[in-house]
Amino acid sequence: MPGFIIDLDGTMYAGTRPIPGAAEFIGRLKQEGHPFIYATNNSSKRPEQVAEHLHAVAGVEACPTEVLTSAQAAARYIADRQPGARVFVIGEDGLVHAAGEAGLIVTEERPDFVVQGIDRRFSYAKLEAAVRHIKSGAAYVLTNPDHLLPGEGGFHPGAGALAAAIRTASEAEPIVIGKPSPILLGMAVARLGLPASEAWVVGDNLRTDIAGGRAAGCRTALVLTGLATPDHADELIARSGVQPDLICRDLPELFDRSCR
Ligand SMILES: [Mg+2]
Repeated sequence: MPGFIIDLDGTMYAGTRPIPGAAEFIGRLKQEGHPFIYATNNSSKRPEQVAEHLHAVAGVEACPTEVLTSAQAAARYIADRQPGARVFVIGEDGLVHAAGEAGLIVTEERPDFVVQGIDRRFSYAKLEAAVRHIKSGAAYVLTNPDHLLPGEGGFHPGAGALAAAIRTASEAEPIVIGKPSPILLGMAVARLGLPASEAWVVGDNLRTDIAGGRAAGCRTALVLTGLATPDHADELIARSGVQPDLICRDLPELFDRSCR
């Protein structure tokens, strides 16, 4: 029985709007006992907040344990390599909280790791501190490489845009955790308890969800409810050079084609 690693924005909801069929899809997965997990590149929120948003916007009852954020995956990645590591955090509540949950010590002094996500209070002082720590030997971990995020009133710079400043000044390349890196998706596969080849990575973004799913050895399904739309899918696939295993108008169509 296949399992599913499901993207959120553009797949389960579009910002604060529901996406038709998403709640029905999750209901059918639960009914038939398919394992699933929500995997998001968003590092700013705690899993509890993500679950609440799913309920409020998509009308889906969700447990925090069904959610894996890039913040949790980054903290786990560091803790697996160095339990109790000292970390300098550039990020928001979700990342600071995940670091604490993983037993990491958040500090401004002599960190072993600089871990960075989206930070809407990013500043020259934070950039300067991050670069100093990296130059002094701290490893640099980036939650997700997204340059731009859709949101209210258009697009907003993401964690990858801030990372560009840190990379330029430090001349160091980060370890990337979120999609299209297979690190977050590999942890999601492990949580499903299935071989990667039996897990579908589902999302609306070819360059993150589908490219990451392929890198992680999973099956991939593009849904045309977000970034990719029925009008532009072929053009986006040609331009990205990333081919999904399935292209589905929406999540109910994916259920019919992957579980039947
Ligand atoms: Mg998406």
